[in-house]
Amino acid sequence: MPWKSRWTIDVPILSLPSYLFTSPTAPLDNRPLVIDAERPEYHLTHDTYREWSKRLATGLRRAGFQSGDRLLLYSGNTIFFPVVLMGTIVAGGIFTGANPTYVARELAYQLQDSGAKFLITAGGSLETALEAAESINFPRERIFAFDDGFASFDGHGESVNGISHWSKLLGSSRESSSFEWEIFTSREQMDKTAVLNYSSGTTGVPKGVEITHMNYISNCMQTEYMQALSPDYKELAKTAAALSFLPMYHAYGQTVHCVSLPLQRIPVYVMRKFEFVKVLQYIEKYRVTSLNLVPPIAVALTKRMEVKDYDLSSIESAGCGAAPLGKESATEFDHVVAKGRFQLRQGWGMTEITCSACGFDPNYVEDSAAVGELNPNIEGSIVDDDAREVPRGQRGEFWVRGPNVMKGYWNKAAETRETKTDDGWLKTGDIAFRDKDGLIHIVDRKKELIKVKGNQVAPAELEALLLDHPAVQDAAVIGVTMRGEELPRAYIVLQNEATTSAQEIASWLATKVAPHKRLAGGVKFTDEIPKNPSGKILRKLLREQAKAEVGDG
Ligand code: AMP
Repeated sequence: MPWKSRWTIDVPILSLPSYLFTSPTAPLDNRPLVIDAERPEYHLTHDTYREWSKRLATGLRRAGFQSGDRLLLYSGNTIFFPVVLMGTIVAGGIFTGANPTYVARELAYQLQDSGAKFLITAGGSLETALEAAESINFPRERIFAFDDGFASFDGHGESVNGISHWSKLLGSSRESSSFEWEIFTSREQMDKTAVLNYSSGTTGVPKGVEITHMNYISNCMQTEYMQALSPDYKELAKTAAALSFLPMYHAYGQTVHCVSLPLQRIPVYVMRKFEFVKVLQYIEKYRVTSLNLVPPIAVALTKRMEVKDYDLSSIESAGCGAAPLGKESATEFDHVVAKGRFQLRQGWGMTEITCSACGFDPNYVEDSAAVGELNPNIEGSIVDDDAREVPRGQRGEFWVRGPNVMKGYWNKAAETRETKTDDGWLKTGDIAFRDKDGLIHIVDRKKELIKVKGNQVAPAELEALLLDHPAVQDAAVIGVTMRGEELPRAYIVLQNEATTSAQEIASWLATKVAPHKRLAGGVKFTDEIPKNPSGKILRKLLREQAKAEVGDG
């Protein structure tokens, strides 16, 4: 039998804007809440976060944006990121964020796949954005840009290299003050899509994951419920501060730093880009209390020499997710950073479940490599290849069901059916077991997905590109662990008489993809790619081969 979370919560009928901002006009707090870490004088309060969101919604509507239309944001983190997210949703639209390290080809794909009506980008990303737009004939007049100097705070900005400054898309404070977003009165309205976060899921190329208002609100309520199980929660929340360096285009950084923490009135210091030493400086300077980490950053905090030069004693909690973290690394973190004040806790999540589905009851003190228990209102099941449940303690594919499971993949009914059953179970593609204490351990991946520093790499995308190389006859890409990190590695069958080198192929691919997708795990030539009779690549075999080739990495 599938099992249920120990906890249940009631999710009220609300839209995401009403959940975050109460109502279009209710009085809100005016303390700094979303703050630029570099220049903290630039910040949003709860009240101005809503005001700016309403201004964007007003401007978007004026520019012809309608309910259900999509807006794509291609930018690193900035305090305006949450505004564009919420402003789009306040306007009744659907937000989609693209990885700011994308090259033009990758951005063009998301722009086209989402059918975005508007593209907002940052000054530094404008060149790539224009190249992408041009390649698919996306109209220039629907592109707007931030500048890096916060000109929108000081009045209307000028154009950015010939492209309209995004403030041109904002309504004035006065005209926006009366903007009303749609008030939901039924569960059906909550099933409206709010966000498309891109993920390749268990197979294939990146797809738009449709996250509804219900999904978003449920997931924020679930994680907050888990945090609030701590007896100190209320007290700690009073002085809490967070640092946002995880990218906000991804489900993890977005749900936590744009919605969940602002909702709890926890100030979020936004870093425009990740720089390790600056993370240390800001933790010390802003007395940061809670950290949301991915494994390489958690490991860096235990290993890098610079750490000892900074006072990290303000940190009271740290969570880590997006990829596996070894037990030794977690224990080392507890010694070096937590120093007995708290324990680093792993959580498990996936874009397709909004952000997270497993976490720890903070009152649980046992040391463990587990990812915790199911969050409230979630059911879990561990099944074999024939979808039959396996006995407790045995490994199998982890399935979850709950109010935070995506509606489906945008415009991809067949892929949705492959991943989500008719009765709502999401096949996660992760291999897990549930131990005698009910804790879930993620031990392997059945799906193709490769995770590089927490970022997704879809083998199918790289394979399709490699097949375009004139010397390549066949290709397969898998993840290999080297020096503790998962990296993409390609196996290539060359065309007859082709002469090229592994280096040439890796460099060729590097020009076509974001840096985390480069073939840093190597390129190997082979006579044949192992496949089953229907032509499916036998990735497991290749993964084992790679493991043997690199030894212990
Ligand atoms: P994403 O959709 O980008 O968040 O990626 C989700 C995938 O990341 C999961 O299906 C897992 O394969 C992996 N993942 C996330 N959290 C963990 C974790 N704590 N341990 C192991 N793998 C994880």
